[in-house]
Amino acid sequence: MGGRGDMVVVRSEGLYCVPGDFYIDPWRPVARAIITHAHSDHARIGHAHYLTAQPGLGILRARLGDIAADGLAYGDAVEHNGVRISLHPAGHVLGSAQVRMEYRGEVWVASGDYKVEADATCVPFEPVRCHTFITESTFGLPIYRWVPQQEIYADINAWWARNAAQGRASVLLGYAFGKAQRMLSGLDAAQGPIVCHGAVEALNRVYRDAGVALPATRMVTDVARDELRRAIVLAPPSAAGSPWIRRFGEYSDAFASGWMLVRGARRRRGVDRGFVLSDHADWPGLMAAIKATGAGRIIVTHGSVPVMVRWLRQNGYDAGAFETEYGAEEEGADGESAAQTAGRQEGADA
Ligand SMILES: [Zn+2]
Ligand SMILES: [Zn+2]
Repeated sequence: MGGRGDMVVVRSEGLYCVPGDFYIDPWRPVARAIITHAHSDHARIGHAHYLTAQPGLGILRARLGDIAADGLAYGDAVEHNGVRISLHPAGHVLGSAQVRMEYRGEVWVASGDYKVEADATCVPFEPVRCHTFITESTFGLPIYRWVPQQEIYADINAWWARNAAQGRASVLLGYAFGKAQRMLSGLDAAQGPIVCHGAVEALNRVYRDAGVALPATRMVTDVARDELRRAIVLAPPSAAGSPWIRRFGEYSDAFASGWMLVRGARRRRGVDRGFVLSDHADWPGLMAAIKATGAGRIIVTHGSVPVMVRWLRQNGYDAGAFETEYGAEEEGADGESAAQTAGRQEGADA
């Protein structure tokens, strides 16, 4: 989609701000990139210059290495080719931002990925008024409704306690950047040792350096063998079935993701338990966020695009879509198959 004079259009390199002559989360190398957050489908290597929210600068450097990057504090503005640019908290992961662009009195906001429930690991989502809102829709189906995270944390701690009482470790799988730190923030450290895989610990360090308080964690080599039997272990999904995991002997495993709400997702992952914990907005969250912008025009990027666009049009919005290359990893990874499954379930229930 795109009309004459649109401030942001989609090009083969990515979302492009026409008057500003810069890109937002481009998937091909460009001269100037604004990065909403450091998940790898949004933050790619090879751009000549990066601009990102100040709290996300450390993560961006940790993931992309020695890049030419500037950090911008939330709410501060810079002007580029007459476009006033500011970044506002998206509540998704540490340093995640929505990009506000103002040009000749018109305001566009690109959301990146966002979550509306506040958590302890990043600055909460903040609605930004605009004329046109470019939104993600990873969980853009009415079946996606999250329970409050405190209930999920309580479930995780109870599962851990049960396993520990039976003398086996609890292996909790989730994405190393964002999800792992959020789960960590909800663990009750009094229950036993918290062991982190190296990929998770590397990001814990960046979070702590950014001032985020997390429970104490240990490397597996620092924990005595009998202590491991009452430990909880945070590891990335890629560690499932690896020799690193097998050292825990008899253990129970679990996977944490919004997709765990979908029937069959836990079985496909081959784990004992699924915890429904997402760093994306659920359906009511998407609706509330869209409404709070006051925007009349909504452009949907990755996720359940056709469903969202149809719903928005039925509810009086000028809605369309941008074809992007987001959602290919992190929590978006299971997107296609899970959304299809969900669509079938919806049909069956109707
Ligand atoms: Zn993301
Ligand atoms: Zn995304």
